Amino acid sequence: VLVPFAGLVLAFCFYSVREDFKPEMLQGKRVIITGASTGIGEQMAYHLARMGSHILITARTEAKLQKVVVRCLELGAASAQYVSGSMEDMAFAKRVVKEAEELLGGLDMLILNHVGSSYFGYFNRDIEHVQKLLDINFLSYVTMTVSALPMLKGSGGSIIVVSSMAGKVGFPFVAPYSATKFALDGFFSSLRQEFVMQNINVSITLCILGLIDTESAMKAASKVYMVSPAPKEECALEIIKGGAFRQREVYYQYTSTKIPLLIRDWAPGLLDYLIRRNYNLESIKEN
Ligand code: NDP
Repeated sequence: VLVPFAGLVLAFCFYSVREDFKPEMLQGKRVIITGASTGIGEQMAYHLARMGSHILITARTEAKLQKVVVRCLELGAASAQYVSGSMEDMAFAKRVVKEAEELLGGLDMLILNHVGSSYFGYFNRDIEHVQKLLDINFLSYVTMTVSALPMLKGSGGSIIVVSSMAGKVGFPFVAPYSATKFALDGFFSSLRQEFVMQNINVSITLCILGLIDTESAMKAASKVYMVSPAPKEECALEIIKGGAFRQREVYYQYTSTKIPLLIRDWAPGLLDYLIRRNYNLESIKEN
């Protein structure tokens, strides 16, 4: 009984003595943000711009990236550039890191955030879609990590992996997406252990998010998933803070992430039931 209690006390002490976040922590840092043409990635770019970072953003849609770069420069980025292409292509994933090396001369933070589009509904048995999504949402994350590791080792840098509650527990209607997010947890949590064992000074922060009010999430889920979304601007900032503090994981927001997960391992059936209660099934079509 005493051991878990002591653990709780230590965890509490750690959080209460943790230094306050200061925007200067990111000043002059060289950062790649993937999936930064819209949503949470776009907001992370704006926060980092205000903090004075050197920013390299990527996604497929060049016109949107150009606008984000202009805004980042207005907000005070030390520099802001983009490279456009698809993360379906692993050669492109490697090229983004190479561009960072050439344009920024190194890398302090790799923010892996992009996500391929998927459907919201009963699993449609399309295996090719699962494979494609694994390439975009998982394999490109691993590819970029491998390519960026020499630079991150040199700078004592950080890797931030944006995941989801659907990467910790089963949610209906997102089976292919959920598979890719669970894969990220397995891979990066294992890699984190190895980094500690090998004294590699590169942190890995896995971010567990609940529903966030990005355009794509609202379009996909708002009529079916009856949960109020959290704001993307605040979410983006919490991810950056977690990375800056080299936290193991970020849970945003606690009420929709950390707290439900407390019952996952002890009463999984109860958690499954509570999750199912949030869905309006009338808007979902059968496959
Ligand atoms: P958005 O759909 O708003 O943004 C996705 C980004 O990924 C865009 O910049 C998009 O740009 C890019 N992208 C899509 N496909 C590709 C591709 N093939 N190659 C390269 N880039 C691509 O997503 P969110 O901001 O909502 O989500 C961001 C992260 O947060 C994701 O990892 C997501 O899983 C996670 N998350 C989000 C939640 C939410 O409720 N919003 C909840 C839990 C987790 P473009 O189309 O121009 O390529």
